[in-house]
Amino acid sequence: MPSAVPNSTPTPATNAGLQRALAWIQAGPKRLLIGGEWVEAKSGKTFETINPATEQLLTSVAEADSADIDAAVRAARRAFEAPSWAGVSPQARSRLLFKIADLVDQHAEELAALESLDNGSPLSSSTARVGQAADIFRYYGGWPSKVHGTTNPTDASTFLYMVREPMGVCALINAWNVPLVMAVMKIAPALACGNTMLMKPAEQTPLTTLRLGELIQDAGVPPGVVNIVPGFGPTAGAAMAAHPDIDKIAFTGSTGVGKYILQASTGNLKKVTLELGGKSPNIIFPDADIDKAVEAAVNAFCRNSGQICSAGTRLFVQESLYDEITERVVRIASGYKVGSPFDPDTKLGPLISDKQMDRVLSYVDTGAADGATLRCGGGRVGDVGYFVQPTVFSGVSNGMRIAQEEIFGPVLSVLPFKDEEDAIFQGNDTQYGLAAAVWTRDVSRAHKVARALKTGRVWINTYAEVDPSMSMGGYKQSGIGREMGAESIEAYTQTKSILMRL
Ligand code: ADP
Ligand code: MG
Repeated sequence: MPSAVPNSTPTPATNAGLQRALAWIQAGPKRLLIGGEWVEAKSGKTFETINPATEQLLTSVAEADSADIDAAVRAARRAFEAPSWAGVSPQARSRLLFKIADLVDQHAEELAALESLDNGSPLSSSTARVGQAADIFRYYGGWPSKVHGTTNPTDASTFLYMVREPMGVCALINAWNVPLVMAVMKIAPALACGNTMLMKPAEQTPLTTLRLGELIQDAGVPPGVVNIVPGFGPTAGAAMAAHPDIDKIAFTGSTGVGKYILQASTGNLKKVTLELGGKSPNIIFPDADIDKAVEAAVNAFCRNSGQICSAGTRLFVQESLYDEITERVVRIASGYKVGSPFDPDTKLGPLISDKQMDRVLSYVDTGAADGATLRCGGGRVGDVGYFVQPTVFSGVSNGMRIAQEEIFGPVLSVLPFKDEEDAIFQGNDTQYGLAAAVWTRDVSRAHKVARALKTGRVWINTYAEVDPSMSMGGYKQSGIGREMGAESIEAYTQTKSILMRL
């Protein structure tokens, strides 16, 4: 029986961040940031962003299309060539990034509340992620003075050296699941390396990226260096992917759209980074700390209501413990509270949209139809807001659609394995390769299995822990290239080798 979700904003009077976020929202419709000015779309069009917990309108936002993308590219190109950016010393770029980090910290409560209003993540997660965002700005703030080139050994008649230069104008396109951190994962390294950029947040979640744009301006980043152009994929996004004067594109989203972007970018051979889908294996061996592994396994698929590309959606359990661990996972997952992002007890907020909720619920039908056993959840919670119960299937085989396709909701498949070899084989038996985890007390096994898994990230005896220096990205159809750490510095620079005859 669906019960009503205690919804919307239960503690408004006591949450100062929420008050500030609401005041910012109510200050008026949001605009595009182009060339340092907040402007309407040339078409005059706007779109609405809603609160997925209440289905209510938050505010309207100017809707960029190809004409606005053209204007933003011109602004970014001018800024890239201008001495006010090209001539900035590495130390000054560091100071800008540190300044932005400080501003993010100073507005942490407001940004966290704004994120929770716009995308439905529990406030505790949004708060942690704002902290991460500031950390990422600081991490990349340390880089500008360390983007070294090389001097290469030659005979005495030549001088050969290599310099590392920015790519130029970068198009940054994001998904809606972790909007602020994903924006920062792209903007911070792009700035550190001296690029200029246009960022398109997802149409479902433009608000924290727009607020970040204000803070970036307050920090003193020159006009046109960071442009923010909310809009829809087939119009604004497609115009970015195909634009002849954009040098690089970095995209986070679905594998299908990623392939489209790769094709669209061939017109001028943009340098491309793609962070796409996943179906990550989480492997528990019998010698693991089972209590910790079970807790983490539930978090791994419920975090952000499963709307995380590296969610641990395939739980592999050694046969001898399969029934016991499945039961424990089901028990913990059933106890997870689904509800308002602003309730401190909430573990799962809403999904982002009715479309996403319908998609997730249709996978529940698919799982049952393919013969898996629904052990808990499987339904909507309440009838306002896009809340879905934590859902666990047992009796899943790895070939089933629920084990192969990215669902992007709180749906777990529990699968048995025989031995190490079988766990590795099944773990790798997917088109994706974003992340994986292995739980064992056997040190050799931990490293052997970690090396054998074909994924961009592997966790041992933990899940989803991150560090700004830890790169992420995909083997196989989970993407092209890597983000974070030193690898983002490579992704936002290109090298030039210079040879002189003496
Ligand atoms: P989802 O379907 O889960 O929303 P998408 O991959 O469609 O994920 O969206 C991720 C981002 O890609 C969003 O910012 C969206 O606007 C953008 N996008 C969608 N379609 C296109 C496209 N054809 N070209 C460029 N960007 C697109
Ligand atoms: Mg929204």
